[in-house]
Amino acid sequence: MMDDLGPLLVVLLIAAMAFVAILSLGPTPGVVVVVDAGHGGPDPGAVVAGIQEKDLNLALALLVQEKAKTAGLRVVLTRNTDTYVDLVERVRMAEALGAVLYVSIHANYHRDQRVCGVETWVDTNASAESARLAEALQRALVVATGAQDRGLRRQTLYLRHTRLPAALVEVGYLSCPGEREKLLDPDYQGRIAEGIVRGILAYLGK
Ligand SMILES: [Zn+2]
Repeated sequence: MMDDLGPLLVVLLIAAMAFVAILSLGPTPGVVVVVDAGHGGPDPGAVVAGIQEKDLNLALALLVQEKAKTAGLRVVLTRNTDTYVDLVERVRMAEALGAVLYVSIHANYHRDQRVCGVETWVDTNASAESARLAEALQRALVVATGAQDRGLRRQTLYLRHTRLPAALVEVGYLSCPGEREKLLDPDYQGRIAEGIVRGILAYLGK
């Protein structure tokens, strides 16, 4: 009896593992990308003329999730409410989900209100893949919005805590009056979201 049970147990184990693997794919099988709405909760990010960056970031992240769905891309957000999530926790979440990449959404501030436009950031020690992702995002954002192209930039970022391709988009300057007006416009927000989705798809070769 014991000898016959061995193979049966192996078959059951394989079946159980397959079941867990299917479950882990989630409701929409396929590629998972993680999109982060910068700041949140007690951390508002930039605050200009009563506008809090965290709210704009969240609105854009939700739009990206919605638009990505039609492109067959599953987007998981690090937050979908006004809460603060620890920064390292955000990238850990992406790794735990088996995401293929990580994009963080921010809006910018400069004390000189003549500074306007789109930038994409990577960590100073970013991989070539992160730089490739950032370039794809920057290009697609500039095309989608027609905003000034301020290019790819590097600084020490928490994105260094993940090995996933990771980039941070600064979709415009809240301190630039003309751009601030656009950033609050639902149509323009839709174009930004479209740009981010297109950038991700371009990076993924789709
Ligand atoms: Zn920010």
